[in-house]
Amino acid sequence: MDSENKEKQYTTEKECREHIASIKWANGFVCPVCHYNKAWVTNEVKYKCKNCRCKISVTSGTIFQNSHIPLPVWFRGIAYISSQTASVTVRDFQQVLGVKSIRTALNILNKIKEILTYPYLEKLNGTIELFKATVRINDKPCIVLIGAENKNNRIGRIRIQPIRRGMTNDIINFVENCIEPESILICREHLLNNATPLNDYTVLYKEDIRQRNKEFKSNGDIDKPYHFLRINSIENKLLNYCNRNNVQTILNDFCMSENLFKTKIPFDKIVELAVFPHKGKHN
Ligand SMILES: [Zn+2]
Repeated sequence: MDSENKEKQYTTEKECREHIASIKWANGFVCPVCHYNKAWVTNEVKYKCKNCRCKISVTSGTIFQNSHIPLPVWFRGIAYISSQTASVTVRDFQQVLGVKSIRTALNILNKIKEILTYPYLEKLNGTIELFKATVRINDKPCIVLIGAENKNNRIGRIRIQPIRRGMTNDIINFVENCIEPESILICREHLLNNATPLNDYTVLYKEDIRQRNKEFKSNGDIDKPYHFLRINSIENKLLNYCNRNNVQTILNDFCMSENLFKTKIPFDKIVELAVFPHKGKHN
């Protein structure tokens, strides 16, 4: 079901509340105060523990908590974001939500962005180019490995990790942690030292691709050459990226902000993260 149809299911406050409750208490109701497992449910889908009688809102602990914005508006925003693969502007978002204040729209957009950062660090897939680069982080030079998806000759999602000089193991770890098996890896020949056990991936060397590109050119075949990505912009941005303590945290933050909206995240996944905002948080 696409996001538009999903959205149509949640047009009333009650439908939204019922949906949130079905995620929140997927394994049955549990009172957060006394852990009793039975509750009265009112017509407006409010829960009252049958033991200690405290009232538990279905939105407590979710990103919807204490919001004065109707839940169907939130759900509309989530459906919209789940259908986008390009950056979402506040103006467009405001229009989709149908709210008067741009501030309200920005608030909601930021809250949803915050819970979305985790999916944006999911493994890269497809064709990925690997680059070694030296950047300065916390005023120290740092060798990093950058993996960038090639999406129609444009930079798709990226992942970056620090690596130690000459440590092929660090490169293998990076590939296994950040890239889906069966993906195509493109890198310089010396990066992998020829002798690495990346059996789950197809590895192509830039040197070979360049040679093939040349052959295509001399054959007059202009469609076939592979276009390498240029990552200067990433390196430049990273050079000026803010200084904080943990190198991997800095790199992850950077990747998340670069990856934002470069891939669709399903409606159900966003709602789940909205109900459990801490579930997706990285350590
Ligand atoms: Zn209770």
